[in-house]
Amino acid sequence: MSYIGRFAPSPTGPLHAGSLVAALASWLDARAHGGRWLVRIEDVDTPRCVPGAAEEISRQLEALGLAADEPPTWQSANGARYDAALARLVAEGRAYPCACTRQDIAAHWAAAGVARERHGELVYPGTCRPENGGLRGRAPRAWRFRLPDDARVDWHDRRLGAQHQDVARAVGDFVLKRADGLWAYQLAVVADDAAQAITDVVRGEDLADNTPRQILLQRALGLPTPRYLHVPLVLGADGQKLSKQTGAAPIDLGDPHAALRAAAQALGLGPLAPRDAIGAWRSRWCSQ
Ligand code: GLU
Repeated sequence: MSYIGRFAPSPTGPLHAGSLVAALASWLDARAHGGRWLVRIEDVDTPRCVPGAAEEISRQLEALGLAADEPPTWQSANGARYDAALARLVAEGRAYPCACTRQDIAAHWAAAGVARERHGELVYPGTCRPENGGLRGRAPRAWRFRLPDDARVDWHDRRLGAQHQDVARAVGDFVLKRADGLWAYQLAVVADDAAQAITDVVRGEDLADNTPRQILLQRALGLPTPRYLHVPLVLGADGQKLSKQTGAAPIDLGDPHAALRAAAQALGLGPLAPRDAIGAWRSRWCSQ
C-alpha cells in the first residue's frame, strides 16, 4: 500500500511529553503500515515561532530515534503554493476579502443579542460576503473562505469514529489569510498535505474539530481527503492540555527510552520501546 504520514510541529518550543505523543503516534502508524514518514515545520504563524525551536525539535526526534524519510520541509518556503490555492478559490468565488475587525464581529452578535463564540473564536456572521454588500468601501484586511450553502460535514476518525460538524454554526466563513498578512493554518495545512501526498493524518485530538474546515477546503480545491486519526492529549496536573505556551517541560533526552515509553503508554500501548510498540500499534489501529 502507499502510505505517507507526517508530523507537523509548530516551532513554538521544544517537544514536550504531549507533542511527543503526537510525533510517536504518527511515526508508529507510518511504520506499522510500511509507509513513509515526513516532518513538516509549521512556521507560518511567525509571531508564535521561537528562533531555534525547529532545529531543537529535529535534534530531539533524532535522539529519540524517530527518523524521517526525507529532510524536513518548512511552511515558510511554501508561500507560492498558498498564493496559488487562494487565487484559485478567489477565481471560483469561494474566497472573499473581509474588512471586519474582531470588534466589528463582536458588535454584530451583541446587536443581535446572541453569543456566537466557540473556544474564544467568534462565529463570522458573513458581513463582507459579496451577496451582503462586500467591503462597502472599507479596506480589506483578511481573506475568508466562503462556506458552501450546506456546510455540514460528516467524516470518519479512525479512533473517534463517526464525526459531524456544521461548520456554518461552528465557525462560519473562516480566515484563509489573516489581517496581518500571515497564512492561516487551515489553508497551509490543506495545501501542504495535498502537495506532499499525505494519505494519513495522525495528530492530537485538539485538532479534531478543525478537520471539517480542512475537508471543506480540500473539496473546494479538488484535493483528496486523507484518513484521520486523532490521538488523546496529555493533560497537565491542572487538567489542561500540556502545551509549550503553558511551559510544559522539554523531553529529557538524558533518558530517551523513558520518554518514549511514557508516550507509548499515553497511547494505550503499555510502556513499550518503539520497536515493540509498532506491533502493538498495528494490531490496535491498522484495521481502523
Ligand atoms: N502545527 C500543528 C501543531 O503543532 C499541527 C498541525 C497538524 O498536525 O495538522 O499543533
